[in-house]
Amino acid sequence: MPHHTPLIATIVAGLVLAFIFGAIANRLRVSPLVGYLLAGVAVGPFTPGFVADQNLAQELAEIGVILLMFGVGLHFSLKDLLSVKAIAVPGAVAQITIATLLGMGLGWAFGWTAGEGLVFGLALSVASTVVLLRALQERRLVDTDKGRIAVGWLIVEDLAMVLVLVLLPAVAGALGGDGATPSTEAILMALAITLGKVAAFLVVMLVVGRRVIPWVLHYVAHTGSRELFRLAVLAVALGVALGSTQLFGVSFALGAFFAGMVLAESELSHRAAEETLPLRDAFAVLFFVSVGMLFDPRILLTDPLPVLATVAIIVVGKSVAAYGIVRAFGHPNATALTISASLAQIGEFSFILATLGVSLGLLPERGRDLILAGAIVTILLNPMFFVAIARFKPWLDGTRKDVARTDMAIEETLTRTALQNHIVLIGYGRVGSLVGDALQASGKPFLVIEERQPLVELLRAKSIETISGNAAVREIIDAANLAGASWLVIAIPNGFEAGHIVAGARAANPDLLILARAHSDAEVDYLKKHGANLIILGEREIARGLIEAIEAGQTAAS
Ligand code: AMP
Repeated sequence: MPHHTPLIATIVAGLVLAFIFGAIANRLRVSPLVGYLLAGVAVGPFTPGFVADQNLAQELAEIGVILLMFGVGLHFSLKDLLSVKAIAVPGAVAQITIATLLGMGLGWAFGWTAGEGLVFGLALSVASTVVLLRALQERRLVDTDKGRIAVGWLIVEDLAMVLVLVLLPAVAGALGGDGATPSTEAILMALAITLGKVAAFLVVMLVVGRRVIPWVLHYVAHTGSRELFRLAVLAVALGVALGSTQLFGVSFALGAFFAGMVLAESELSHRAAEETLPLRDAFAVLFFVSVGMLFDPRILLTDPLPVLATVAIIVVGKSVAAYGIVRAFGHPNATALTISASLAQIGEFSFILATLGVSLGLLPERGRDLILAGAIVTILLNPMFFVAIARFKPWLDGTRKDVARTDMAIEETLTRTALQNHIVLIGYGRVGSLVGDALQASGKPFLVIEERQPLVELLRAKSIETISGNAAVREIIDAANLAGASWLVIAIPNGFEAGHIVAGARAANPDLLILARAHSDAEVDYLKKHGANLIILGEREIARGLIEAIEAGQTAAS
């Protein structure tokens, strides 16, 4: 292995092993995250063979955090953030308090000091951004109410941790760690400076960033260079994240989130989001590899009970607290369960806090090892909670309908349509909205399946029957009564996803007339093979329109 190129070796070994282990996990029908974590263990220092550079891996993982949070910011407007503050602020604060107290209790049982217990408890109280976002994205929950509450909650936790990371060195002496006992004045001063910096950061982003960033991207978009636009998006995401960390002391994640958020109001945001997708996914994978690398599997044998107790605090203690808080605010069962499941894990912040705690003499090494073990076990368990929610939802809701095994959390209680011989339209974007409006004007019976919440609200405001969710999920297709429908119009841009839907629809109803949209000849063939009757190739229709316009112009001119 070339030791003179540690960066390349770390990236390549991380990605190649993550791919191999992820593919195996997928084959065994477990979450690929398990594979990525195990790939990390394999290239980590505690297993024989090649050892990747741990520090480099962690820095690479930070890029994943930045791009993920930037992507989330792109889906989030300031209005969204403010709309969830009523629950996210008290919820996160109460949950952090409860988890910290539980952690202190466990620390006390180990015979640690109160200061050590405090750091241990705080590290258990904060969820991982990457794990939470991956979970929400995989289940397309980011744009839903639950998703917004979970992300708002995460932002509050993030802010709280920024404060903790700054204050901890200042108060280490007072808590019994290394360093002199500071005066109350010095502590208050440190607190005021941190809060001042965070406030200054928010003002700069919301006043200056909100104007400058969209302007820069608009300018670059108009140059017509795709490469420059990609570069601009990356430069904004990474530049703002690093700049805000250096200048204002906020976390990378928070800086990137706000960079995305100030863009969310401009129509360029979708393009910007797409440009970061491939890089984002690759670096998010490296995040899991880097977590795996920190893990020493021997702790599971030497310290099983303390590991179990730590996991119990993260999984049971935090979830029960979050569930109770969300329910107390009057939100439905499904929302409370999704939020509890999203937060029942720990990750990057906990490692940072643990490392800082050990260096300040405020956490025994054993505490850090337990935190790492707790993180890896809860990240592994996390996808299972979502599967369990989807499985047990009907039972929890008091209905006895059997559901098929699915790891998609279904958005709302699905009511099956009463329509017969109707038209089902999937997607209400640029294409689907035109089709839908024409169908409404003609008075034909139809319903729409759409997954973007703002569009679902718009459709319902127009009194159009709508099923909210991803049409690739069987329950959603069942609720649309495809078996009794006469037409299916698939107006989504992804031909391969549409192919999956076509196959399911054809199986449910051999006589259904299926129309689909495609953007390449390969997609046309693919859709035809799966049973679509008529496929409209977008680009050909645009060309036809252009040709007609030219011919009409020639006729008019002659
Ligand atoms: P456009 O490309 O502007 O016509 O938008 C396509 C629309 O289809 C968007 O509003 C998407 O939210 C929606 N969409 C894409 N995939 C799915 C899916 N699998 N299920 C439901 N809606 C979808």
